[in-house]
Amino acid sequence: MINKVSLPQFITEQQRQLPGASGDLSSLLNDIVTACKQISHLVNQGDLIGTWGSAASENVQGEVQKKLDIISNDYMVDALKWTGHLAGMISEEDDDPIEIPSQYPRGKYLALFDPLDGSSNIDVNLTVGTIFSILRCNEGIKPSIDDFLQKGSKQVCAGFVLYGPSTMLILTTGQGVNGFTLDQEIGEFYLTHPDMTIPEDTQEFAINMSNQRFWEAPVQQYITECVQGTDGVRGKDFNMRWIASLVAEVYRVLTRGGIFMYPYDHRDSTKEGRLRLLYEANPIGFIVEQAGGLCSTGRERILEMKPKEIHQRVPVILGAKNEVTRVISYHKDYDLP
Ligand code: MG
Ligand code: MG
Repeated sequence: MINKVSLPQFITEQQRQLPGASGDLSSLLNDIVTACKQISHLVNQGDLIGTWGSAASENVQGEVQKKLDIISNDYMVDALKWTGHLAGMISEEDDDPIEIPSQYPRGKYLALFDPLDGSSNIDVNLTVGTIFSILRCNEGIKPSIDDFLQKGSKQVCAGFVLYGPSTMLILTTGQGVNGFTLDQEIGEFYLTHPDMTIPEDTQEFAINMSNQRFWEAPVQQYITECVQGTDGVRGKDFNMRWIASLVAEVYRVLTRGGIFMYPYDHRDSTKEGRLRLLYEANPIGFIVEQAGGLCSTGRERILEMKPKEIHQRVPVILGAKNEVTRVISYHKDYDLP
């Protein structure tokens, strides 16, 4: 590649276009990226360093933690706690908000992250990733839970890093979506996928079919029509994909289109959905919308949801605009009195 644009150059140039930008966000992003490079190296080392497998613990969601979940979380917290940019953090791996240690200054941003998404795929060597969301808060405060419970539309920045055959960063600051690839030799991300957009139509859907009997009627209808292909009302054949790693699914949707669904189901009445609102659905929703797609629960735009608690789960239907619109309309019809 000639005339490569590095991530720091890209961010700096983007910030210059915003009046009053202080550079704090660029610097915060840099800190996140530093942690992600460490996680990338760790994931890439695989079981050579004995980090595959489960730790003897569960997280707040009652999921068995992998050793890599815990180490990745430590890398994120250690890279972010001392910088002075953050007032607090929330992680999938911690029950409560993570406080900034008292010896460090507190800043004007909040970071919310899933340090290692798709970690059940680690032992089978499939793609995993780190998802992050940045919110603003009053500078210097010690944030309460309420400070974190902001709508996704308030995000100033969101992204995810994909640890696949290549390590990639997908980023939005509300001015479109751009993809960067890590040059492992140099240790720098370079812009390789400018202005990522999701085509409005698709013939590819991703859903966990083994949950079919638990879905509601609108999702049943939509998937049945896809599967009927040219013999049904859609008049075209569909392909199915399922990786069970959110970051990998969303990256595919961003690069070649599609619809991804983890819909509401009635398996467990205590959980509205599977994916976490604050550090999965919101950042992914911000990215998907910035790329021209939609992200909904089926009944509500994800970015407009008022969060009720920090580890809240929600149904997620995202991707190609025309397909998500169709699924939403099926929900509307179903909910009519
Ligand atoms: Mg996750
Ligand atoms: Mg995780």
